[in-house]
Amino acid sequence: MLSISHSLTGAFIATKLPIPGVYIPTVMASHYLEDWIPHWDVGTGLSSGKRKRTTAIILELGELVISFGLVYFFFQYGHATVQWPAWIGAFIGLLPDFLEAPRNFLKWEPGFLRPINNLHALFHHSTPDMLFGLTPQVVTIVAIWLLR
Ligand SMILES: [Zn+2]
Repeated sequence: MLSISHSLTGAFIATKLPIPGVYIPTVMASHYLEDWIPHWDVGTGLSSGKRKRTTAIILELGELVISFGLVYFFFQYGHATVQWPAWIGAFIGLLPDFLEAPRNFLKWEPGFLRPINNLHALFHHSTPDMLFGLTPQVVTIVAIWLLR
C-alpha cells in the first residue's frame, strides 16, 4: 500500500495501544494485512517494467514527505509534547517497505534481509487499476481521521 496508508495506520494503532510491546508487533502485522488487500501504490508496475525505477523513487520520496505531513497533522498538531507513539508507530508501519527498498529500487539486497523480504512479497497484492487500488486506502485514511 501507499506509505501514507501504512504510516497513518501505524500511528493510529500506536496511539490507541501506546505500549511498545503491544503496538510494535500489531503495527508490523497491520503492514502485512494491508499489503494483502489488492492495492495500487507508487511501486505498482515496477516489477513488470511498466514504471521506471527513477520515477518510482521520485514518487516515493514525495509520498514520504506527504506521509510525514499527514502524521503530523493527524497526530502531532496541537500537542505541546512530541507524540512518540505516533512517530514510532508510523516508522514501524513503513519498516517492511524500508527493508525492501534496496531490492526494489537498487536491485541490491543484503542476504540477511532476504527472508523478511520474501515474507513481505508473499503478502503483497497490487493492482494496476488505480481506482480499485486506491479505494480501500481512502476508506482507511478517512476512518483513521474520524477515529483518531
Ligand atoms: Zn509493504
